[in-house]
Amino acid sequence: MAKDTRRREFLRLTAAAGGAGLLASCSRGGATSAAGATDGPAAGAATATADGASRAIAAPQATGSPSPADWAALGHDLSGPLVRPGDAAYTVSKRLFDPRFDSLHPAGIAYCRNSRDVSTCLAFVRKYGIPVAARCGGHSYAGWSSTSGLIVDVTKMAGVSVSGSTATVGAGTHLIDFYNGLAAHGRAVPGGSCPTVGIAGLTLGGGVGVVSRAYGLTSDNVKSLQIVTADGQVRTCNSSQNSDLFWACRGGGGGNFGVVTSFTFGTHPAGQIVLFFLSWPWSQAARVIAAWQSWAPHAPDPLWSNLHLAAAPGGSVPSIQVGGTYLGSISAAAAQLEKLYAAAGSHPSSPFMETTSWLHAMLVEAGCASLTVNECHLPTQNPQGRLSRASEYAKSDIFTKPLSSAGIGTLLAGVEKFQRAGGAPGASGGIAFDALGGAVNRVAPGATAFVHRNGLFQAQYTTTWPLGSAAAAVARQHAWQQSFWQSMRPYASGQAYQNYIDPALTNWRQAYYGANYTRLTQVKAKYDPHRVFTFPQAV
Ligand SMILES: Cc1cc2nc3c(=O)[nH]c(=O)nc-3n(C[C@H](O)[C@H](O)[C@H](O)COP(=O)(O)OP(=O)(O)OC[C@H]3O[C@@H](n4cnc5c(N)ncnc54)[C@H](O)[C@@H]3O)c2cc1C
Repeated sequence: MAKDTRRREFLRLTAAAGGAGLLASCSRGGATSAAGATDGPAAGAATATADGASRAIAAPQATGSPSPADWAALGHDLSGPLVRPGDAAYTVSKRLFDPRFDSLHPAGIAYCRNSRDVSTCLAFVRKYGIPVAARCGGHSYAGWSSTSGLIVDVTKMAGVSVSGSTATVGAGTHLIDFYNGLAAHGRAVPGGSCPTVGIAGLTLGGGVGVVSRAYGLTSDNVKSLQIVTADGQVRTCNSSQNSDLFWACRGGGGGNFGVVTSFTFGTHPAGQIVLFFLSWPWSQAARVIAAWQSWAPHAPDPLWSNLHLAAAPGGSVPSIQVGGTYLGSISAAAAQLEKLYAAAGSHPSSPFMETTSWLHAMLVEAGCASLTVNECHLPTQNPQGRLSRASEYAKSDIFTKPLSSAGIGTLLAGVEKFQRAGGAPGASGGIAFDALGGAVNRVAPGATAFVHRNGLFQAQYTTTWPLGSAAAAVARQHAWQQSFWQSMRPYASGQAYQNYIDPALTNWRQAYYGANYTRLTQVKAKYDPHRVFTFPQAV
């Protein structure tokens, strides 16, 4: 197979696993409940107990529902547009990434151009006691960046400016623009693969992905940030100012502590990078999984890798692929891969490896290998955008021990079952593992709010379907996914990734935050004592 054909084939296959996908396939998941149906108490309705005394924020005195004239006054006070039901832009403006949430009807969407606009919005929601949700890329798996009240959209605060090794990034920047803006200055920050994910949601919950074994999480690279807290104050957070809030904003999860308007990152040189994509026949899957899990988390830091198992309804066999990047020479990368082949007992049937520019590697990982940066957007984000929205259910696990052979058997059986699960035509079901270790695990669990510092790899159980699929088929896919995840309980650590937010998770406090949860509640009580920011899994 020619080199380009092999890569295209790999990307086509991995799209089904929810990783580096093509066009509509940059979709890693969602979950059950709709934001509008689950908004928590409105501003001032809940109380908090911890140490807010020294910075008491006056309890909001809600004055009843805002009238159309009140909304009009809000629109007048903002420098960015306010979109309301009935406006021509409303149908598009209220959308999140996943069409499952198109039925949600926010009362308003405020496109804030600056921190002052955000403060104005927060004064409005405090005054009227209506729910509020910050929104960046709109990829919340649960739809929790929408609300029945006011969406504070930060996407007009986008852009990357670089000074030396430091980058200041507008909180509304989409990932592909983040990578592009940095690469223009020869710099890089580790992040996820999906180009339309927002930097705010990603960073606040951690940010796991390409090169994180070398450079850590996205949140590990934040030096400072600006946030508007519930009282409308604009605060700078870093190691010396509001350091408790700074701690919480690195892994404590989006939507909890305020609306971030910008981040300052430390950056790394963005040189050439090796990309690799490998696949094996399904008959080799058990050996490849066993080999990958003993290799990928323990490899030298420059090596980052993922493993995808994917199936289709009625398919004869699922697929298994390993992909990744290496920061170094192609010969050094090849030497590392030989160790994987030796452990697996076979070479891949379709190996692909190339050295490429940093930005092109990010485009490939984004499923945009043959697209320009402008094209690697939704059309609503960029007129040249060629990506489309997609629906998906997802759940996650962080594994801290290698899977036993029984665990691998359960894993394979789970993927194979998708073929007989009665999914929609064109659907996919599978699991994507991202290797951890390296720089991610060298940070102490309590150093930032991101507690998961002992993982070998994290997993995402996903199922996708084409728009317009029969509801009954989608429900069967969802049932398959829940039961697959359930079957892996004996082998998983109980930790889950807070950015793969999962409304079905009952023990989410422990799973997302572990020993850091208590401290997070203290920060919440201090900066948002009346729970202006709330949703079903809010700290
Ligand atoms: C298709 C897809 C691919 C993904 N790939 C990866 C990946 O490779 N690696 C990875 O680590 N994660 C990945 N994720 C998970 C992703 O990091 C989270 O879903 C993240 O929360 C999305 O951020 P967002 O800004 O796009 O979403 P949004 O829905 O806009 O926001 C998510 C949460 O953050 C809050 N929020 C948004 N903006 C702000 C703000 N300015 N201030 C405060 N809170 C805010 C929202 O209220 C919401 O609660 C992926 C998700 C999807 C759907």
